[in-house]
Amino acid sequence: MRIFFDVDNTLLYSSGSTWNLRPGAQEVMAVLKEHGHDLYIWSATGLLHCQRLVRRYNLEPFVTACFDKDPACGLTPDIIVDDDWYLVEKYSGVCVAAYRRPDPEDRELFRILEVLEAWNELKSRS
Ligand SMILES: [Mg+2]
Repeated sequence: MRIFFDVDNTLLYSSGSTWNLRPGAQEVMAVLKEHGHDLYIWSATGLLHCQRLVRRYNLEPFVTACFDKDPACGLTPDIIVDDDWYLVEKYSGVCVAAYRRPDPEDRELFRILEVLEAWNELKSRS
C-alpha cells in the first residue's frame, strides 16, 4: 500500500527552529517498510519542508518520495496518516491526535500498525 504521512503535528512538532520528531516515527516506518509498504511524506508547508524532515531524522531508508500536499502530486495514497480529520475522511487512513508539544510518552503513531493488523485480519476472514 501507498502510505502518505503528514508532517506538521503528525510526525513533527516544531516551534520556531526547534523541531521534535514524534516518538515512534522511525520505528513505525521501519516496520511498514519491512512489510512491503511504500511510504511517502507530504506537507502543505511544501516539498522542502518534507525533505528537511527526512534528512534531519535520517528517514531516507524508509521514504520513497516527498510531495507538496496536493491532489495533483501524481500518486493517489491508499491511506494517509494525518492529524486533519477532514483529509482522513477524504483519503481514508488513520487520524492521529495533533502532536502539539514534545511528549516522549506519545504512542499515536503506533496506532497505524494496529489499524493495518486489524484490516489484514478482516481480509483474511472474508
Ligand atoms: Mg498536520
